[in-house]
Amino acid sequence: MTGALGFETRQVHAGAIIDGEAGARITPIYQSAGYVFDSFDDGVERFAGRSARRAYSRNDNPTNVVAARRIADLEGGVDGVLVASGQAAIAMALGALAEAGDHILTTDRLYEGTREMFRGALRRQGLAFEALPIDADEETWVAAVRPETRAIYAESIANPLGEVADLALLGRVSARTGVPLVVDNTVATPYLCRPVEHGAAVVIHSTSKWLGGHGSVIGGAIIDGGSFDWAAAAERFPQLHEPRPHGAPSFAERFGDAALGAYLRSVVVLEHGPTMPPSSAFLLLHGIETLSLRMQRHVANAVAVAEALRAHPAVARVHYPGADDGQADLVARLLPDGAGSIVSIKLAGGRDAARAFLDGLRLVTQMTHIGDVRTLAIHTGSTIHGKLTDTERERLGITEGLVRVSVGIELADDIIADLRQALDAVPARELEAVVS
Ligand SMILES: *Cc1c(COP(=O)(O)O)cnc(C)c1O
Repeated sequence: MTGALGFETRQVHAGAIIDGEAGARITPIYQSAGYVFDSFDDGVERFAGRSARRAYSRNDNPTNVVAARRIADLEGGVDGVLVASGQAAIAMALGALAEAGDHILTTDRLYEGTREMFRGALRRQGLAFEALPIDADEETWVAAVRPETRAIYAESIANPLGEVADLALLGRVSARTGVPLVVDNTVATPYLCRPVEHGAAVVIHSTSKWLGGHGSVIGGAIIDGGSFDWAAAAERFPQLHEPRPHGAPSFAERFGDAALGAYLRSVVVLEHGPTMPPSSAFLLLHGIETLSLRMQRHVANAVAVAEALRAHPAVARVHYPGADDGQADLVARLLPDGAGSIVSIKLAGGRDAARAFLDGLRLVTQMTHIGDVRTLAIHTGSTIHGKLTDTERERLGITEGLVRVSVGIELADDIIADLRQALDAVPARELEAVVS
């Protein structure tokens, strides 16, 4: 019904249900653990997966299903599952694709929580990770694929420095090798970038960020792009091709190109149980309804902030995707409507200047979060990246003077005025003590 409609219409309507009893126009919060069986036999049918009716909210709650379908629609995917956080979304997606002994290729530019999970929990579970430079060429990626490689993992816009992954190139690598491309699209959102159009099989979101948009709820989403030929990849993914209990056909047979989404919901998320509370899905839906409006404003403000900060003498360098990092062509191709709203700045005076700057902010909040309507700032080297060694930080470009700003939707002039007054107040002696 909503397929031919525009993004702005679908963000309000896609997947919506009208509650039969009360006729509520907005999707209600179905605050219920389970769903009444009509009879003994009805219960049997629901558990066997032969009934379309739901059984239990751990993996199937009506409010959550609406929000998941809405995000899937906006991403151009065919199915979606919500989970309790962005971290859980990544863990569940990779847990659906890979098991002990398998190998995952990633870019070397990742959100630090993701890197920690890859180096920590997922490695302890027996997965091997190999990072290639984000700008590695197509042949290098193809050559790095092994028989046991189960996913190529990238962020469309990397957090915190905003390097952009060439999704079209990675999509070609996926098509040539039969290994699905998994893209964390949190920072771009489906308004600015739709990875499925570039060949991604799976899209991941931390819905805690711009999709929810108001800093009120933690959540994650896994979207099945419906674009990967699971039937042709039976050797890599036997879990989608094995016969199911109760004589049911395999996920690949029954769901075709949507097999992964069904497998995630009916097996992986059901087994692990990282459920998003339906009250969170309700707030998430409210956020999604204004996504395009907020993103336009976020982007316009970020561009204005980047421009203003480039001109300030206390700022040695500004990172905003595009010209700042020599990726202008790629950004124009992949992100024609804007490159998100994270602006990271490197202060000439290093860590002491960063402390003086952050402590001098009045409107902008010091906090670890991004994608809020409010502008937020953080010194990542001493917080998010604080557990890394100096060498690791240096390799990732996390310098002593680096401050990440997630630009909100306030009046741009007010944001800029606050950033400026805090920069102006950085003592001159801090500016002279230039640390790389
Ligand atoms: C925040 C974030 C995550 C993790 O999401 P949570 O909802 O905080 O668990 C994953 N990927 C990216 C790019 C993020 O910014």
